[in-house]
Amino acid sequence: MNKKVVIIGAGPAGMAAAGRLQDLGIDVVLIEKQDKLGGHLNKYYKVFPDFTDASEIINNLQVNLGKTRILTQTTVTKIKGSAPHFTVITSTGEQIEASAILVATGFKHFDASLKEEYGYGIYDNCINAIELDAMLKAGKVTTRTGKSPKKVGIIHCVGSRDEKVNNNYCSRVCCTNAVKIGIEIKEQNPDCDIYCLYMDIRVFGRGYEELYRTSQEDFGVQFIRGRLSEAAEKNDGSLLLRLEDTLTAKPMRLTVDLLVLMVGMEGNSELADVAGLTIGCDRFYATFHPQYANNHSTQTGIFLAGTATGPKAIMESITDGRSAAAEIASFFTKIASKSSINGKYVIPITVSVN
Ligand code: SF4
Repeated sequence: MNKKVVIIGAGPAGMAAAGRLQDLGIDVVLIEKQDKLGGHLNKYYKVFPDFTDASEIINNLQVNLGKTRILTQTTVTKIKGSAPHFTVITSTGEQIEASAILVATGFKHFDASLKEEYGYGIYDNCINAIELDAMLKAGKVTTRTGKSPKKVGIIHCVGSRDEKVNNNYCSRVCCTNAVKIGIEIKEQNPDCDIYCLYMDIRVFGRGYEELYRTSQEDFGVQFIRGRLSEAAEKNDGSLLLRLEDTLTAKPMRLTVDLLVLMVGMEGNSELADVAGLTIGCDRFYATFHPQYANNHSTQTGIFLAGTATGPKAIMESITDGRSAAAEIASFFTKIASKSSINGKYVIPITVSVN
């Protein structure tokens, strides 16, 4: 059997998987719809909890891809056949034979304009976290008129944990990302007051709690357990926030020069029909089993990695991509050890826990 894997999506999970499969001597074709590798990392500045530069992560993953065939500005339009004899047809008309496929198509950010009451897309000084990262990268956090903000509000859970927008899940990374950007704004603009408005603080990973403490003790970032009901623009372009302090159950008002919305992650299920994948109730791809087969899709020979199956931090996506590579290598071993029946491989349809 010719061991070749087509990986769809060259974000951190897809790149990490490609590197590991290549190390194992497996041919890899890495397909990316954008014009460069890295996915969302290209839009980020630094990554929590250690402030690693996002571009450093891309470079580190890319350096391992010397033998990987990379197709950028390309999408997959059709998948024919079944494991281990897939034919992947691309938007450029190429037909690629593959023994297994890895879907690492990532996520999309929640469209904050759907939360009209926050004013994104209406008020100049209401931006999302990705736009703030671009400002931090440029070393210039300003209002739209170019002034250095004296007060910045950071709103947690925008488009996550919100029944109104049909996203009941927690996006897992935005609390720690809010802590990180609070510190970064203070580093660049020490006189600025930062107010994080949160529902619950969920900082669960190694070094995250410490970062949360550092943001308060060393940088003076202020955390208010509050629910924002609406933002209104004042004549000078600043924003009046009406909220409820949910610890004291009292209404509050706060004026900020810049409002940053911590937009959550949403499933990117554009390959569901093409690859015959099942979508979960959260609109991320469903895995074969949530406990012991998280890199297997419901289709034999089609694997999943990274945020295609739910919100993850960058480090988790990289680890998950490498985990998927190991599952694919194991899958090839299982296929090779089976005898063929009438010239067809016997594909293991259940996943061994051992
Ligand atoms: Fe909300 Fe924090 Fe969960 Fe993000 S990580 S959805 S901000 S609770």
